[in-house]
Amino acid sequence: MRAYVEVNLKAIKNNIALVRGKTSAQILAVVKADAYGHGLVPVAKCAIESGASWLGVALLEEAITLRESGISTPIISWLTPPSSDFKKAIELDIDLSIPSLKHLELIVAAGKAIGKRPRVHIEIDTGMGRGGLLGEWAEFLIAISGAEVDVVGFWSHFARADEPDEIANSNQLAEFESKLAELIGIGINPKYIHFANSAATLTNSKSHKDIIRLGIAMYGLSPDVNSLGTSTQLDLETAMTLKAELHLVKRVPAGSPIGYGATESTARDTKLAIVSMGYSDGIPRCTSNSTGVFVGGAKAPIIGRVSMDQFVVDLGPDSNAQSGDIAEVFGGLGYSVDDWASAAGTINYEIVTRIASRVPRIYV
Ligand SMILES: *Cc1c(COP(=O)(O)O)cnc(C)c1O
Repeated sequence: MRAYVEVNLKAIKNNIALVRGKTSAQILAVVKADAYGHGLVPVAKCAIESGASWLGVALLEEAITLRESGISTPIISWLTPPSSDFKKAIELDIDLSIPSLKHLELIVAAGKAIGKRPRVHIEIDTGMGRGGLLGEWAEFLIAISGAEVDVVGFWSHFARADEPDEIANSNQLAEFESKLAELIGIGINPKYIHFANSAATLTNSKSHKDIIRLGIAMYGLSPDVNSLGTSTQLDLETAMTLKAELHLVKRVPAGSPIGYGATESTARDTKLAIVSMGYSDGIPRCTSNSTGVFVGGAKAPIIGRVSMDQFVVDLGPDSNAQSGDIAEVFGGLGYSVDDWASAAGTINYEIVTRIASRVPRIYV
């Protein structure tokens, strides 16, 4: 096969088991962005079988796909701009986040229109400056009392959970507690309080509350290799391996320019392999030769620029790799997701989520 993602569902199961051993909170499996590139429905089903009792997605479309595939587990959708189909969400028992007064109005109106009370989670901005109520809080407290919604949750999100000693984390938690007290003060006492992402789950048990929202660690990747350690150090099993076939292998003399712009040339007589994936498949173009693939029993570094559908690796003169061989782009043998992330100047989250939909996902 030209190129494919192999997803090890057992790894996801083990990662959830590891986290279950560290918390008494319920687990919400974050499966947004096609389950971080691993495949929405298969990962959601695996997470539920492994003990997750909630699912979380950004988009309503993702939540709808989950419901249409027969999943009845509670789902929260938290990125729903005003044009979202709130009626459909309420019909399908999808929990909605409320980050603003306008969302409250739209969701209440949608509930009235179909004669069903929406289930909502109030989202507050405790210092990330992204989603959530901040300046409208006083007005919101008035609007929410008596509003025709079931407030089942109250939540916020950390900006710096991957820096566990950062004072901003305790400031965010304090702000959270004080807003929650105000809500309880007006007689609204949500059953599910949630705050922690993977990094907070691993480093800050005070933030666990009733539900932890587990994303990157469930996929077996470290939330931050520098501050929290590698996935191996965290006992996580990376679920995704990316593989691609060698389109061809050929001998070239020293001094051969490679690829667009001839940015690099061979340093010696060598063998090259053309790997049949490129930036349209999600291979970052801005990589350096600090990464590559594993094939023929050895690492082969990238040489020259990544093209749209292919890139070139230097196999070395003695490689026995052949055209048609399957190279591991990242996985357990040669280069890791984190190697690719650092070569591209980004984070492992981006490397796994950017793999294009034209690359099939295979479950092992
Ligand atoms: C993506 C996301 C998470 C999961 O974050 P990880 O760092 O991958 O664990 C949790 N909560 C919200 C609101 C998110 O958007």
